[in-house]
Amino acid sequence: MKTLGIEGTAHSIGVGIVENQNDYCKVLSNIIKTYIPEKGGIHPREAANHHVMYIADLVTQSLGQAKLSSSDINLVSFSQGPGLGPCLRTAATAARALALSLNIPIIGVNHCIAHLEIGRGMIPECIDPVLLYTSGANTQVIAFSEGKYRVFGETLDIGIGNCLDKFGRSIGLSFPCGPKIEEYAKTGKNYLELPYSVKGMDIAFSGLLTAAMQYIAQQKPVQDICYSLQETTFAALTEITERAMAHTEKHQVLLGGGVAANQRLRDMVQVMTKDRGAQFYVPEKNLCIDNGAMIAWLGYVMFHSGIRMEIKDTIINQRFRTDVVEVKWRE
Ligand code: AMP
Ligand code: MG
Repeated sequence: MKTLGIEGTAHSIGVGIVENQNDYCKVLSNIIKTYIPEKGGIHPREAANHHVMYIADLVTQSLGQAKLSSSDINLVSFSQGPGLGPCLRTAATAARALALSLNIPIIGVNHCIAHLEIGRGMIPECIDPVLLYTSGANTQVIAFSEGKYRVFGETLDIGIGNCLDKFGRSIGLSFPCGPKIEEYAKTGKNYLELPYSVKGMDIAFSGLLTAAMQYIAQQKPVQDICYSLQETTFAALTEITERAMAHTEKHQVLLGGGVAANQRLRDMVQVMTKDRGAQFYVPEKNLCIDNGAMIAWLGYVMFHSGIRMEIKDTIINQRFRTDVVEVKWRE
């Protein structure tokens, strides 16, 4: 069975095609196109206009890369939420058009859960992980418990990626700022004190962001600020992940989201997992960032478990919570 998935929650529009192979995911194609604003943050409507412009082409390219024609596709899935309304609507509209014109079923999926399921689908040893999901808008620690993916901890204000991007913009970097901050941080030597805001299982970044910007005004070396920003935020993320592991008695960690590309974050989480005698997994970069293949895979997994949707069930949900989904495909 071949599933085509459309991702469109925020800055990226992606189309991926996957196939089930002995209960694991085989990615046949995965094409991503990212909207990069000329200046400032992401304007939802402008991002959606970008997605409208490219979506049809991406479907064609994705079929081409997979060496398939549209009649080979058996299921269409799309990111139903959470995300920016205009972007979600674009992906959903494209998915509905495909499902109706090809006369095949459609499934809307939760974007955060897709980040977790793609890890389980691609890595056979990764069976029951705690997911540290670190992306632009979202930062959550998610794990399976009693029929649902529960959120054990999350940001109380902005996402970690957003924190890095906002800081980066204040020093004149362009989106995405995370990789450039990572480069600067490598040559930072002096740790500058920053607020460390772990609140129980949750986390907050905006106070720290303000403090980091104040160091800019004080003309502290940018390398030292980037280094301190990474050390502080990643330590806090590692701490809440470890606490979730202890609480749930799980022995695996999976990283997901764009910030998972960061080597320092990977190293910190890996040291923690090693200390606990646990396992650490991270999917390849194009499956960590927002992508259509993960949406396709979760669509397949849900369909395979017996879940069905009518067109009327495919309305987008900007605030689609991870923990409202009944996870019928796991025990
Ligand atoms: P996503 O929303 O999951 O697609 O992730 C996008 C976010 O990942 C943006 O905020 C980027 O700045 C961030 N990002 C990408 N690469 C890195 C990196 N190497 N280090 C830190 N953040 C990164
Ligand atoms: Mg994401």
